[in-house]
Amino acid sequence: MKILVAGGAGYIGSVVTEELVKDGHNVVVYDSLYKGHRGAVVRGATFIHGDLLERAKLSAALREHNIEAVIHLAADSLVGESVQNPAKYYHNNVFAGLALLDAMRECKVRRIVFSSTAATYGEPEKQPLEERDPTAPTNPYGETKLAFERALHWYEEAYGIHYAALRYFNAAGATTHCGEHHNPETHLIPILLQAASGQRPQVEIYGDDYPTRDGTCVRDYIHVVDLARAHILALDILNARSAIYNLGCGGEGYTVKEVIAAAQHVTGREIPVRVGARRSGDPAVLIASSDKIKRELGWSPQKQDLHEIIASAWQWMQQHPHGYADEK
Ligand code: UDP
Repeated sequence: MKILVAGGAGYIGSVVTEELVKDGHNVVVYDSLYKGHRGAVVRGATFIHGDLLERAKLSAALREHNIEAVIHLAADSLVGESVQNPAKYYHNNVFAGLALLDAMRECKVRRIVFSSTAATYGEPEKQPLEERDPTAPTNPYGETKLAFERALHWYEEAYGIHYAALRYFNAAGATTHCGEHHNPETHLIPILLQAASGQRPQVEIYGDDYPTRDGTCVRDYIHVVDLARAHILALDILNARSAIYNLGCGGEGYTVKEVIAAAQHVTGREIPVRVGARRSGDPAVLIASSDKIKRELGWSPQKQDLHEIIASAWQWMQQHPHGYADEK
């Protein structure tokens, strides 16, 4: 297929692109490089440097490359930042996303895979989370992702655009070529690895008074390649229908302290930590039931062991000590 990956120079987008190219798809990466990296654009993909709000450029990309489906990962994704600056999240995640949908309407592209999030559920009453559980986001990040999901629903009704909204839990890990490089870094696993490699003095645990087994937040970590494979499976349904799928490994998840212990084990290094205040907008526990995508699309995560996930990120970091900064 001919696929446009919006946000294909970002962490998850680059791995999605890598998997698509491996499978023989024709991929156009459309990315503003506002957070993505030129060096993360996978060889074999066509790169267009553009913003979703550059309508003429975006429509030309869709038309000239005869795009059949869009995978949309061009968004902001930080819970804490979204609480501080909701305007940015409404602008980038809703307003710019709608511009993409309008360009798709104009160019008659009627398939989209959307990168959504577990943050759409808010502070859930039960675990693991199923897609039919209530959505009540506790931060603007989850709220704006949910708003876009709702837009997809109505755009399907009115304009026949089929969608797959993939609610990611905590993506982590790397491939040989593609890894996680954010500036500033806010995600737990890369922060721990930066501390292990001496790039930061210590790691702060955001609260140890949550109602969990050790007082720290529980998350469901999923290897980025398993996440990427789900996008490719999801493309198959879009001829006929739309769906929302959770993507996580399920089980008990891992507390922040358990992730710290695993990172110390993988790296063989002591990681200095201190307990700080809670980060606003953080739910205590987020664990996925991914039964629906397993049942309907035959997806199953191949790398479920947290040590293996962290080891892949550690390997990438050692091979790319400055992330993509050295690559042009
Ligand atoms: N976390 C932490 N210290 C950090 C970064 C994250 O204690 O420096 C915690 C955070 O509160 C959350 C978990 O680690 O409970 C995962 O956070 P991350 O930002 O990686 O992903 P999120 O769950 O926000 O998508």
